[in-house]
Amino acid sequence: MDLRLLTEQPSTAERSAIDALLGSPEPADGRAVVGGHAVRARRHLLLPALHALQDASGAITRGGVAYVSERLSIPPTDVFGVASFYELFEVDGPGGATARPCDDIVCMGRGPAPDTGGAHVEPSACLGQCDRGPVVLHHEPGSGYSVATAESEGPVRQPRSELRLLRRVGEIDPTSLDDYLDAGGFAALAKAREMGGEAVVAELEASGLRGRGGAAFPVGRKWDGVRRAAGDKVVIANGDESEPGTFKDRVLMEGDPFAVIEALALFGFVTGAEEGFIYVRGEYPTAAERLEAAIAAANERDLLGMTIEVRRGAGAYVCGEETALFASIEGFRGEPRQKPPFPNEAGVFGRPTGINNIETLVTVLEVLRLGGTAFAELGTDGSTGPKLFCVSGDVERPGVYEVEFGATSRDLLALAGGVAEGKGLGAVLLGGAAGVFTGEDGLDVPLTFEDTRAAGLTIGAGALIVFDETTDFEPVVERIAKFFSDESCGQCVPCRVGTVRQGESLQRMFANPASTPVEVQLLGDLALAMDDSSICGLGRTASLAVLSAIDLGLVGGVRG
Ligand code: SF4
Repeated sequence: MDLRLLTEQPSTAERSAIDALLGSPEPADGRAVVGGHAVRARRHLLLPALHALQDASGAITRGGVAYVSERLSIPPTDVFGVASFYELFEVDGPGGATARPCDDIVCMGRGPAPDTGGAHVEPSACLGQCDRGPVVLHHEPGSGYSVATAESEGPVRQPRSELRLLRRVGEIDPTSLDDYLDAGGFAALAKAREMGGEAVVAELEASGLRGRGGAAFPVGRKWDGVRRAAGDKVVIANGDESEPGTFKDRVLMEGDPFAVIEALALFGFVTGAEEGFIYVRGEYPTAAERLEAAIAAANERDLLGMTIEVRRGAGAYVCGEETALFASIEGFRGEPRQKPPFPNEAGVFGRPTGINNIETLVTVLEVLRLGGTAFAELGTDGSTGPKLFCVSGDVERPGVYEVEFGATSRDLLALAGGVAEGKGLGAVLLGGAAGVFTGEDGLDVPLTFEDTRAAGLTIGAGALIVFDETTDFEPVVERIAKFFSDESCGQCVPCRVGTVRQGESLQRMFANPASTPVEVQLLGDLALAMDDSSICGLGRTASLAVLSAIDLGLVGGVRG
């Protein structure tokens, strides 16, 4: 984009959209200059402002950039730099309707995508609808985002008596606060207020609950760290699940939004935070709408005890990393930061911050309901409680399944009806694109943090992507490599360059099998460099699936 914008003007729709968000501009009286702290304090409105522009015209136009730049006192290059970071913003694009068909590893090869209706087409990485693909994310100026899937709402297919985290999903009206209250909603928050924050932390520690987003950090220790921190605190529900093959947080946010806000309010109560954010990935419009409606309904009855705001992401996998998410909320490019400082010391806006993913927070409600000791009896000693797994790919009944830790991939495969069409198993990708391929012998490894680690596998956020025996794994592995090179934020040279070189190496290997030994050596070296010197988990995990596919002989023969 040419950034000489002094003469560019926004359209009427763009101006109205920005004024609706930021308020009407103050008439200049020639005497007062607004700047400094007052202006910097509004920087966090940049991402909502870019959404407003995109929603108004279907693109981030020069006139729109110029107007946002003027209203927020952010240089145009800076506005452009942030806008161009996110996949969902059509920077200097043609405007009008956009259709984003998923071409990622679960949807690829699953028949024709739904109709794109003559819209401008931009293929997309995983849209988090793997249980009902193929899928297209539509954007229409004036009416926003909508999702078209091959199948309607994915049902919960387990007996209700077995369910804890999913027991309300599909059973109660997710838009009705009364339904939620009738189903025991807000009892956990009331109990926490009776017990006091310190006692809640003790229950969490007794429960052994660990985070469900991939890092498995003990939740009681995290909450205690934020609780003990001094200052004006913030709590965040991380709903940016973008790992290909992962869609459980979407099912919770869409199907049980009041549970998400109750759990975040509980997090705020325990830690002493009076402000909270729910960061929802931009590809989940229904989740964002239902959460906003739930917050409004709960506020009408004064149930939350704190302010909670929904922030929409805009298509950047790396924003699921907590420090990148902070930068995104603050109005900067979603680039991860070095730790320390850790979030409980200096998180979003430099304030002490507690952050957990959606499943973790909803599981906290179950700890309060059962009590920490009873909760710890579920699962195994090292991995307590229930866990959601997203089973997708070549299975009869893809969906989110709830089991206790210790169930195996074979158990989950059985719950999902087995390999589709009675075919044999090719492989399972456990943990999503940042995970590891395993074959038949990995199916019996108990799905716990400790057992998967010992077996060289990973649970990640709980994705199992199943491939049948007829799968050609070369395009699958190439698509995984492309995913990481597309999603690298580019800060670390080994990740920025290494993810690209990884894809190129695979292409050479598949085009010329005789080059396999050389390329396998190179891929191993790249993996070491990325693992050693990346700031965040994206670079450290970008090679796992590729190398495991080679190890298993799914592509390239067996690694020497
Ligand atoms: Fe960005 Fe990759 Fe570095 Fe993570 S590892 S900060 S994604 S360049």
